[in-house]
Amino acid sequence: MTESLVPRIQLNDGYSIPQLGFGVFKVDPGETERIVRDALEVGYRHIDTARIYGNEEGVGRAIAESGIPREELFITTKLWNDDQGTQSVFDAFDRSLERLGLEYLDLYLIHWPTPAQDRYVETWKAFERLRESGRVRSIGVSNFLVPHLERLLAETDVVPVVDQIELHPYHQQPATAAFAAEHDIRIEAWGPLGQGKYPLLELPEVADAAEAHGKTPAQVVIRWHLQRGNIVFPKSNRRERMVENFDVFDFELSEAEMGAITELEREGRVSAHPDEVN
Ligand code: NAD
Repeated sequence: MTESLVPRIQLNDGYSIPQLGFGVFKVDPGETERIVRDALEVGYRHIDTARIYGNEEGVGRAIAESGIPREELFITTKLWNDDQGTQSVFDAFDRSLERLGLEYLDLYLIHWPTPAQDRYVETWKAFERLRESGRVRSIGVSNFLVPHLERLLAETDVVPVVDQIELHPYHQQPATAAFAAEHDIRIEAWGPLGQGKYPLLELPEVADAAEAHGKTPAQVVIRWHLQRGNIVFPKSNRRERMVENFDVFDFELSEAEMGAITELEREGRVSAHPDEVN
């Protein structure tokens, strides 16, 4: 099992991203170094963190001690809501990069649009300047819905490379996904396993496919994301699950199996609505 099995998704700025990565939301800062070390040993090369997770330093230590050449890694972090603006963005970026111990970042995201603050356009212009500096290669957004994306495209110059949104079988956000596809913005699916908040892995549409392929229900759901073209980074603290979630390149879901899972859509958001996070 090697990282070379992971397909790369082409971004609209010429860079590419490993389609399968490892997320560290709710990974305890004290355990992050060990957990990310495990993930890198298992073969993950794409790590998704955020300033608000409080674990950038642990991610940085695991990267430094791994000895993996920097160009083989893809590291994402996110600007927290309190740091939106202009100078505050530059300062927050510097601090994130320092905590990660990196010379450059692969992808920097605006974590939430926080529409009540009304600063995401200004923030994005600061992101454009960061990108020009070369210290971040690609810039994107997270939790942006169609109206937020429309405004960004109308008022700024650079099209985000990705929109990282809550996306799993009960909540597939078809309007945002379609808008993104039209504008060459890739979708990153957060909470790809529904954060364990509904019995996704027990649904017959998932369990039957798992049985048919001799795989686990989690592997089926990850496979569904990959075949839909989503970028995913499921999270687990447990090494055996990291291995399981990475072992998804030796089978393919049929059109019927894919369709049955896609039909589970029911606007079943498991976390906050982006307009309500400010
Ligand atoms: P997830 O859907 O990946 O669910 C994680 C939970 O699923 C784990 O706690 C674990 O208990 C369970 N799990 C993992 N592998 C399993 C397996 N093989 N079998 C059974 N259960 C398994 O949810 P997530 O961690 O919230 O999302 C993934 C990543 O997305 C995060 O770590 C983070 O990087 C990112 N994220 C971003 C935002 C955002 O606002 N941009 C919000 C939430 C998460």
